[in-house]
Amino acid sequence: MRTIIPLRNHAVVIGGSMAGLFAARVLSDHFQRVTVIDRDDLSEDTEFRGGVPQSRHLHQLLMRGQQIMERRFPTLPDDLRAIGAPSLEWGINGIVATREGFTPPKPTGLRSNTVSRSALEALIRRRVPQRAGVTFSGGCTVTGLLTDSTGTTVTGVRAEKRITREAAEFTADLVVDAGGRRSDAPEWLAALGYERPSRTMVDAHVGYASCWFEKPTYMPPDVPIMLVKADPQSGRAGMILEVEGGRWTVILTGKNRDYPPSDMDGYLEYARSLQSPLIYNYIRGAKPLSQVYGYRNTNNVWNHYEKLTRRPEGFVVTGDAACGFNPIYGQGMSVAAMDAELLDGLLRGWENRPLTGFAEAFQKRLAEAVRVPFALATADDLRQPSVEGDIPRQPWVLKQIGLYFRALIDVTDTDAVVFRQFVRVMNLLDAPTTLLKPRIVWRVMRYYLGGSRRLSDHGHLGVTLSPAAKP
Ligand SMILES: Cc1cc2nc3c(=O)[nH]c(=O)nc-3n(C[C@H](O)[C@H](O)[C@H](O)COP(=O)(O)OP(=O)(O)OC[C@H]3O[C@@H](n4cnc5c(N)ncnc54)[C@H](O)[C@@H]3O)c2cc1C
Repeated sequence: MRTIIPLRNHAVVIGGSMAGLFAARVLSDHFQRVTVIDRDDLSEDTEFRGGVPQSRHLHQLLMRGQQIMERRFPTLPDDLRAIGAPSLEWGINGIVATREGFTPPKPTGLRSNTVSRSALEALIRRRVPQRAGVTFSGGCTVTGLLTDSTGTTVTGVRAEKRITREAAEFTADLVVDAGGRRSDAPEWLAALGYERPSRTMVDAHVGYASCWFEKPTYMPPDVPIMLVKADPQSGRAGMILEVEGGRWTVILTGKNRDYPPSDMDGYLEYARSLQSPLIYNYIRGAKPLSQVYGYRNTNNVWNHYEKLTRRPEGFVVTGDAACGFNPIYGQGMSVAAMDAELLDGLLRGWENRPLTGFAEAFQKRLAEAVRVPFALATADDLRQPSVEGDIPRQPWVLKQIGLYFRALIDVTDTDAVVFRQFVRVMNLLDAPTTLLKPRIVWRVMRYYLGGSRRLSDHGHLGVTLSPAAKP
């Protein structure tokens, strides 16, 4: 990676969560100073902070995100090892249960780590200020944007200290909003006389309930994931993910307002109702380390900053603040990392010239980048009976492709080639169109023309599945 001596003076990042940290990391290559402002106190590695309520829930790190993070933070693999974050090979180190049984192992050579959201953020947060010029201003809420006298260029932010209510101003050459789903950027723009971005919203009323457990000592070390696939009828699903500290984070999910309960009895009952009792049988005897946490703010929301007809210079929006996804596919952190890569690439193209036109160019690139993750996240939601929001009319061809993808998902249970390509697509490494290649289409057709589903007892993992755990 080419090292640049930063010529620009100061960038401000609103939000010190994943998108803000990634943005700060790349901005430090282009600006002499980068200030990350967050309403939470970021000085301690707390397990939970109010600005990121989703951190109580299971977070998968997709391979695309992990690859970008490892490039930007080369010590990350060692850091993950040091805290005891398990590593896995997709298709091998996990158990996937359906009503019919366990799917057979399928070597993919594709590896990633499992780690809690708060631990990952803490690791990245420790590394970012090691970059020259990066500082954090925690306990400080941004309340609006500052502009030049013509109102056409953002020149910084107005903020307020949370405890003392003392007002503060930060001047900057570039302001990056990474304030998440609850970003106030649309209101800040409106207050300056600009239009709010239009938005595309798709809500299938998906609900999460999560609980943390001590991993039972009888479990072998190399099974960090256990998944019960979504029941084709009820839509209920669940996953156990082992993270650092010998802990299990366990989520149950439902759609169409079939929310999993957040009391322990109801939670266990919901686990028992999944299409396989795998998760229920493991958690009913395990020691809980937390209460059950519910979460329902799971709609897909794409704020179309790329479509603004007028915008101030010097202000861009990234991460969930630009586009938030139904979290079931685990894309948010990886897309935030991809957004930061775009920011870096574009700033390199803007070297040695004023940032005029930069904000518009960035939002347009970001919109191109989120198109695929948004399509992946909404594909199933759009088919749900309770879906609300902006429902596009699907042309006949797209409907047929949708049916093909649904069929393909069943084939991934048993066909190693289809599974591997599917994993690459869902990890944002390859485009979904790669699943339309002739060798994949042929395997899907062959399956439906009389292939057999050979399921497995997962003996390769050395897991002793109690007879009761078997579906
Ligand atoms: C239930 C759930 C499960 C998820 N699971 C996954 C998963 O498995 N894998 C995955 O990759 N992603 C997952 N995500 C998404 C992921 O959490 C986010 O995409 C990721 O954290 C990036 O978010 P962000 O940094 O844009 O915003 P956030 O994480 O929401 O952070 C916003 C930050 O901005 C700060 N802030 C906001 N406004 C202001 C202000 N005015 N002034 C100062 N500070 C401000 C907040 O305090 C906060 O720190 C999940 C999300 C949810 C809701």
